[in-house]
Amino acid sequence: MINFIEQLLPKNIANLTAYSSAKSEKITGSTWLNANESPFSQQISITLDDLNRYPEPQPEAVINAYAQYSNLNNNQVLMTRGADEGIELLIRTFCIPQQDSIALFLPTYGMYKVTAESHNVALNALTQAELQTGSIASLIKEIGTSKLVFICNPNNPTGAMVSVDRIREISVQVGSKTLIVVDEAYIEFCPEQSALSLLEQCNNIVILRTLSKAFGLAGLRTGFMLSRPEILAPVRKVIAPYPVSTVVARIAENALTPSSITTMQQQVTDLNQFKQQLIKECKQSSAIKSVLTGEGNFVTVELNSVSVLDIAKEMGLIMRPFTLFGSNAWLRISIGNQQELKQVSIWLDAINQQ
Ligand SMILES: *Cc1c(COP(=O)(O)O)cnc(C)c1O
Repeated sequence: MINFIEQLLPKNIANLTAYSSAKSEKITGSTWLNANESPFSQQISITLDDLNRYPEPQPEAVINAYAQYSNLNNNQVLMTRGADEGIELLIRTFCIPQQDSIALFLPTYGMYKVTAESHNVALNALTQAELQTGSIASLIKEIGTSKLVFICNPNNPTGAMVSVDRIREISVQVGSKTLIVVDEAYIEFCPEQSALSLLEQCNNIVILRTLSKAFGLAGLRTGFMLSRPEILAPVRKVIAPYPVSTVVARIAENALTPSSITTMQQQVTDLNQFKQQLIKECKQSSAIKSVLTGEGNFVTVELNSVSVLDIAKEMGLIMRPFTLFGSNAWLRISIGNQQELKQVSIWLDAINQQ
C-alpha cells in the first residue's frame, strides 16, 4: 500500500518535510506563546443572508479599506488567504519548476522553503548575516538568477530589520530579472520601517501583509499582496476564482474600519511595552544565554539548557523551540497579555531558584 502511494508521488513531495506547529503536533497547554498570535480577541457577530451566492472574488469594501490604510490605489492590493497564500501564489506565478530558484536569508520564516520545495523550485539559501552586513555587490552576486528574493522584515524568528534604503539598493541593483518580496507580517509593530514607499520608486517590489499578527485575526486567514498593477496582473490569473469566503470578507471589512485600526495600534503600543519588560526579565535570567532584541511581537532567546523546557511544559506554557545557528537551544516567546507573560516570569523564577 505504502509502495503504491510512493510510486504516485513526485520526488519533491515524497521528500518534503511539512511545516510543523504546536497546533499540527496537537500539543496540549494552557498558555499559548508559540505562534506570534495576538492575545486580544474581538467578539464578532455578523448576519448573512447571501451564502447561496458565490462571494466577490476580491471583496471591494475590503480592498478599499486596506488600500486606504496603506495609502495605495485599489489596483495595488490583492487579498489572499493569509500571507502564506501570497508566498505560494508568487512561487506558482513566477517560478518555473526544476529551473528557477528563490533566494532566502536563513534563519527565517519556514514557509518559503516548504512552498518552494513543494513546487519543485530550488532554494538559494543565503544568510541573515549576508543580508544585514554583506556588501551590496556580493549580495547581488549571491542572488544571481534567483527569480524571487524573500526578505522577511522584521525577520521571524530573529526580529532583525533591513533598512528601507538597503532594500531599495538591492532592488535597483538586481534589476528587472528578479522580484524582491518584502514579507511585512510584523510591520504594524514598527510601521515607520515599512518598505511601502518603494512601490513607487522601484518596479520589482512586492509586499506581503497579514491580519494574523497585530490585527489579532490569525483564525480568519487573511493577508494582502501589495505591488504594482503589472506585477499583480499575472497573480490574479493564478489565484483561485473565489479565494475569500463571504464570511471572511465581512469580518475583514470590520477589522479595517478607522476605529478598529486605532484599537489595533493601541494594542501594538501595549504589546511593545510588555515586550520591553520581557526582554529585561530574560536578560536577568540565569536560564538564558542570549537575547535577540529586534522588532515584532516576539522575543527569541538562547537557553543555557533545553531541559528547562520540561518545567514550561509541566506548567502548560507553550513556546516555540528552534534550531538556529547550529544550536537547538533557541526559543521564541510570543508577546501575550500580562497574565500570559506572568507565566513566563513564573517559569523563569522557577529556573532561577533551581
Ligand atoms: C505568521 C507569518 C506569516 C503567515 O501569515 P498568515 O497571514 O497567517 O498566513 C507570513 N510570514 C511571516 C514572516 C509570518 O511570521
